[in-house]
Amino acid sequence: MSSAGLRVTGRFVLHLGTRCNARCPFCYFSTQQRTGADGELTLRRARRRVDLAARWGKTAVDLSGGEPTLHPHLEDIVAHCRRRGIERVTLITNGLRTAAADRCSALADAGLTDVILSVHGHAAALHETHTGVPGSWRRVVQSFANLRGLDLGVRVNTVLTQRNLEHVERLLGWLATMAPDELNLLVCNPSQAAASAAGAQPFRVVDYPAAGRAISHALDRHGDLLPPVNIRFLPFCCVPDHAGRVRTQWQKLFEAHEWDPVLHVAFQRGAAAALAAIVAGAVMTSSGPRRRCADVQTWAALRLSRCRMRMYYVHGAPCAACALRRICTGFPRALVAEHGFPRVRPARRGRLIGDPQHFVSGAGCETMGRRVRRR
Ligand code: SF4
Repeated sequence: MSSAGLRVTGRFVLHLGTRCNARCPFCYFSTQQRTGADGELTLRRARRRVDLAARWGKTAVDLSGGEPTLHPHLEDIVAHCRRRGIERVTLITNGLRTAAADRCSALADAGLTDVILSVHGHAAALHETHTGVPGSWRRVVQSFANLRGLDLGVRVNTVLTQRNLEHVERLLGWLATMAPDELNLLVCNPSQAAASAAGAQPFRVVDYPAAGRAISHALDRHGDLLPPVNIRFLPFCCVPDHAGRVRTQWQKLFEAHEWDPVLHVAFQRGAAAALAAIVAGAVMTSSGPRRRCADVQTWAALRLSRCRMRMYYVHGAPCAACALRRICTGFPRALVAEHGFPRVRPARRGRLIGDPQHFVSGAGCETMGRRVRRR
């Protein structure tokens, strides 16, 4: 364990709008997409946010949506990020528009360094069940080839749903052959609005322990062939043999590929909302990580996260005996309210662990992709 103190991630997120050319039923912005609201960030406002984040010391950004390739000034925003000293500019995309090689070249010329592609199936039918777009699997596979051809970093986000979980072993086997730099497995965790939409119901994962068993089995089979794999939105007790891959909010705060939560809330909901969450988190009794913060940004990020984790996540009876409860956010509150606290056993017993990077730092670190490209 380092004695230097915790330091919050140097990455921030810029949501460029809520418009999308796919129709994934678990999307956080599915309500806006149903109503036609696009929430598009103007170029001027995007530049101002980048300037603020750069002054805040951030050196990496995720450009997200909706679908950011629909933004009319995407290349301008990428170039502005690089001019302001943002070294890693990452695009999170469904891969529909990046199937066109000239679009990839334009983005690379503007200064893009990395892409995260959303891939939800190892075959067309399974992927397109999720995206709702015929031909989208072929296009995301083409995007992968285009981006690799330009020597951009390529990571993959795979949302694990009730539809693809039964195929997770084959899915991971296929992703191993694609060889992305990093694979994020996100257990379907829709917003409350998306979760209650009728179309999302067949995709929702409600049996987290069963999902954990399926994921563990697939990782046991293919883990050696895969790039670094992160498991998000699933607590340690669901995948106890793969604890080093688990990223609850307490691990994500310090991960180079994740977002600063203070800037995220400030940009999405306003500075007042971020400040209120920090103050609320500061007066709550501490149930989270126990390590010194290296700076005030980290202190604020931990307080804001404490407030948000209390709102959205909950611990249960098994957690009282679990040595990881300080570094685990537990289960989604909405899920527990509907289905009760899952039948799990404490992930670890014994001495309480307070370092959120307990499984992340050092020799077992699986956070970063294998390759770090410099442009
Ligand atoms: S604290 Fe609770 S939810 Fe988290 S790993 Fe332990 S038993 Fe599971």
